[in-house]
Amino acid sequence: MQCSKCRREAVIYQRYSGLHLCEQHFNRDFEAKAKRAIREHRWIESGDTVAVALSGGKDSSAVLFFLHRLLGERRDVRLMVITVDEGIGGYRDPGRARAIADRVGVPWVTATFAEAYGITLDTIVARKGTGLSCSYCGVLRRALMNRIAREEGVTKFAYGFNLDDEAQSVLMNALRGDAERLTRPMREAEGMVPRIKPFMYIPEREVALYAFLHVEGFDLAGCPYAGDALRGDVRGILDEYTYRHPATKYSLVNLGETLREPAKNHTEGLRVCERCGEPCGKICRTCQVLDEVRKGG
Ligand code: SF4
Repeated sequence: MQCSKCRREAVIYQRYSGLHLCEQHFNRDFEAKAKRAIREHRWIESGDTVAVALSGGKDSSAVLFFLHRLLGERRDVRLMVITVDEGIGGYRDPGRARAIADRVGVPWVTATFAEAYGITLDTIVARKGTGLSCSYCGVLRRALMNRIAREEGVTKFAYGFNLDDEAQSVLMNALRGDAERLTRPMREAEGMVPRIKPFMYIPEREVALYAFLHVEGFDLAGCPYAGDALRGDVRGILDEYTYRHPATKYSLVNLGETLREPAKNHTEGLRVCERCGEPCGKICRTCQVLDEVRKGG
């Protein structure tokens, strides 16, 4: 099939736009969408140190490539990479992330659950089962990332979350009746490093294609503990519905942004955990999780 914009061979068909795009026009369209997300949210400013949270998978590898292309020549913005090794045997391989960071020449920093908390995710799962693995993992990873960020002077975390992830989250929160999460503003509480998501308007399959076109050696395997049943169901429902109504995921993401809008001016003051001193509640969620998982069975 020919590209809708030139005579070259198309590499993708976008159902929502009706366009067939060749590699060159696909890259242009992809990067324009990512730049628009950054511009509209004013996510990157002069003086920023942006850290890509690099797992070595397709999404984070693609966001590193894109940000390096966007920011590589800028002297007023620093780009670096952080990889957290949760301790998942046979899956997490920090060496792979390091090789991807080295290939674009961006400084790479790593930390492990084992060193930071004295426990790996494999041990947590052995003690607690897989039911809450993502919840424990997310809380501990986020706290560790925040700690490294403070040491390294990071001002923004860049994540590879894509349109599918964002649309699924909005629908999941609606299905759970979780109004608090649906309306929670994107800004972070004081003391937490803000997150940016340049691919939030780009479908997952296009992020995968961008990664295939530009990044060598990213990880295709899924985490063995990824078992959020609701997310799996929502993904299936959304993909099927979007096949017949191609703009659905965009509509959901727009809805999520609109619902968060009135809360934009809301600021949470700095609260500090009484035990570890991290910004959070009275005893922060990280300390609560560590109490739970260290107790064993
Ligand atoms: Fe952690 Fe869940 Fe992601 Fe696996 S899928 S790395 S357990 S958050």
